[in-house]
Amino acid sequence: MPLNFLSLLTGCFAYPAAENPTVAMVEAAYRHHGLDARYINCEVPAEKLGDAVLGARAMGWAGFNCSLPHKVGVIDHLDGLGQSAEIMGAVNCAVRRGERYIGENTDGKGFLSSLAGVVEPRGKRVVMFGAGGAARAIGVELALAGAKSVTIVNRGRERGETLARLLGDKTPAGASFERWEGPYRVPAEADIVVNATSIGLYPGIDDRLAIALDSLRPGLVVADVIPNPPRTHLVRDAEARGCIVLDGLGMLVNQGVIGIKYWTGVDVDPRVMQAKLAALFAA
Ligand code: NDP
Repeated sequence: MPLNFLSLLTGCFAYPAAENPTVAMVEAAYRHHGLDARYINCEVPAEKLGDAVLGARAMGWAGFNCSLPHKVGVIDHLDGLGQSAEIMGAVNCAVRRGERYIGENTDGKGFLSSLAGVVEPRGKRVVMFGAGGAARAIGVELALAGAKSVTIVNRGRERGETLARLLGDKTPAGASFERWEGPYRVPAEADIVVNATSIGLYPGIDDRLAIALDSLRPGLVVADVIPNPPRTHLVRDAEARGCIVLDGLGMLVNQGVIGIKYWTGVDVDPRVMQAKLAALFAA
């Protein structure tokens, strides 16, 4: 076989970029699977995003992630959108298909993969705290996957109502909004509870959701998006009450698995990425 010194290129455009551990996680998977591919973490300010995408096109990148603040702005520089990215109006993963770069959103898909290990969302009633970017991604994917209803519980009325309206208008799921005032009681008929707020994220690790803990019944699925630290108060409280618990590391790892599948066609082992992140967060 002739020698080949041309690697498949992928990466991420964000600003700031230095604290994003995705490069370490993805390259651990590339190495483990012997993939001749690189992932380049790039700090790109908003006014240079168009140039960065042109650069990726010129160099034939297989695709790239987009993180804050580019998830909406990048759409103007792409050639089309996948179904859920179109509904969300946000892209975190661009994928080269032929000569075209198509915007996908793997955040909610990563969440669904994680959830698939414990429950099938079809027909389920979901209570979700939060109405920001993560909530939008998770809400849309849960609704497209057949969830019966999604109740958005949010502190701010406007964002909460906007997300409930989006789900009601653009997906088959029932959607409603409840203003989050004081400790929230999870209704007895709920099947899945999701924290999609930033409460509990480092450095605010002692912050807690205002939630009536005695409404978390055994067998309820409780999922947290916070990857750092993964063992949030919510995760520990829900575990102590006999709930089935998912932490935010699973979502982060699975969105990486899905991105790599898009770019390389290879199903990588999530455990390799999980171990890399766990080692990084423990250091
Ligand atoms: P946004 O800033 O878009 O949204 C934040 C949400 O949290 C809003 O709904 C906001 O409510 C709510 N919130 C924040 N602080 C409080 C508080 N003190 N009390 C009540 N509500 C609060 O953030 P994102 O949606 O982009 O990200 C949210 C979290 O998701 C982040 O911590 C991020 O790390 C995590 N995430 C994890 C991923 C993973 O792979 N595990 C992937 C993507 C994100 P309001 O509207 O009232 O301001």
